[in-house]
Amino acid sequence: MSKPVRVRFAPSPTGPLHIGGVRTALYNYLFARKNNGKFILRIEDTDQSRYVEGAEDYILNSLKWCGFDLDEGPNVGGDFGPYRQSERKEIYKEYVQKLLDSGNAYYAFDTEEELEEMRKKMKEAGHPSPQYNNITRSNMKNSLSLSKEDVQSRINNGDKYVVRANIPRNEVVKFEDKIRGWVSFNTNFLDDKVLYKSDGMPTYHLANVVDDYLMNISHVIRGEEWLPSAPLHVLLYKFLGLEEFVPVYCHLPLILNPEGKGKLSKRDGDRLGFPVFPLEWKDSKQEISISGYKESGFLPEAFVNMLAFLGWNPGDSKEIFSIKDLINTFSLERVNKSGARYNFQKMLWYNQQYLRSKTDEELVFMAKDFISKSDITHDDKYILKATSIIKERITFAHDILSEGAFLFFPPQSYDEKTVRKKWNSESILHVNSLIEKIKQVNDFNAVNVEKMFHEYLKANEVGFGKVMPALRLAITGLGMGPSMFLIMELLGKKEVLSRLDNALLNIVNG
Ligand code: GLU
Repeated sequence: MSKPVRVRFAPSPTGPLHIGGVRTALYNYLFARKNNGKFILRIEDTDQSRYVEGAEDYILNSLKWCGFDLDEGPNVGGDFGPYRQSERKEIYKEYVQKLLDSGNAYYAFDTEEELEEMRKKMKEAGHPSPQYNNITRSNMKNSLSLSKEDVQSRINNGDKYVVRANIPRNEVVKFEDKIRGWVSFNTNFLDDKVLYKSDGMPTYHLANVVDDYLMNISHVIRGEEWLPSAPLHVLLYKFLGLEEFVPVYCHLPLILNPEGKGKLSKRDGDRLGFPVFPLEWKDSKQEISISGYKESGFLPEAFVNMLAFLGWNPGDSKEIFSIKDLINTFSLERVNKSGARYNFQKMLWYNQQYLRSKTDEELVFMAKDFISKSDITHDDKYILKATSIIKERITFAHDILSEGAFLFFPPQSYDEKTVRKKWNSESILHVNSLIEKIKQVNDFNAVNVEKMFHEYLKANEVGFGKVMPALRLAITGLGMGPSMFLIMELLGKKEVLSRLDNALLNIVNG
């Protein structure tokens, strides 16, 4: 029987969560839900020097906004806690001792200067990326090169040390990655990574492996950048006699910038004008503020749908997937090996699609802060109706105000191209005649206005295109837009007439 599915999202609280991290969380979440498994959050905060205040809350809020509910985690609890690595120090001690006792790890006392000296010498000897390894370690200060007594006295003295992995020479480490297939590494290319420090803190590698084992993690789904660490992780399982517990590794493709050249970075976002973080981020001193998808007006459903497609596809042309659809359809088998190019236009498209499925009330609610800060004085009923007219043309809820500005305010200017092409003596004549007709419409609604308009066209044997663009231009200032009859109903007879009068006075052609 296969192991029950238990997956973890294991971010380090070193700053705001990049969308690459959110996608990792999403794939873990989808995989857990699809397989009736557990989705766990583990905070990997062993590197105190990189700890950033507020980052853990940011991670939690991001997961919440996306709708990825946790089964276990720091604030949720669970049978395998604590879920913050800084609270698990005692646990790692036991494992590092096991590694030391079995000879799979050793103490190293080298100072920063000594390490630097070694690297310098190696470089001079023609090794471009020097390593602390099976060859160099014999010239360094460690428990493999020093006498037992020396080692003991250094430890008793309270000298600073690290514990390093004793990587064997010339062995092949193999594992089957669910996305990449068989991966094999020769240990000659691995260095004796630091696993533990004398301050009592493990490094990422040790803590990660020990916790995956103790938390019964079945699948490790994480970014490609961790692939080079995987052989060390597999070796650590072996060193600890836990080979049968090696999880299934799944290394996700990178998210690339829109040019497909390199990992998508904050710099790319700044350069091209889009966020790379789910939520706005402010550092604890409130000095740095970085924009997020949420505050830019994106819906979480759209954001999640778009993210799912960055590295995965369902194998057909369907593009709109609710989170439920994603859970039903997702499989690791359909995750790509190659990097996924980020496409902000597609993100905008997704937001548009999801906005259309919202009710007018929901859209107005979403835009409420923008509306209250604007000069709009219309009542709620009017705003709702305006929303229903403009809804098909907006990308963000707050676009009601910009895209639909003509529904709230008379035009300040008139679209030049339409003026040039459609505002002429003939159309001016029609507008003048229509003013009289409009005055005669008693019950001023879209149906009656439309009826009047078509009767006018028929009676004067004139085409729609000779009259409507001029009418639209005069009332909205634009060359295109939603149904003019709906717009006129909303504006009301008085406003329509006043705009037409203004247009006749103000539009200058040629
Ligand atoms: N703490 C690592 C990170 O920040 C987790 C890598 C892993 O999932 O093993 O991404």
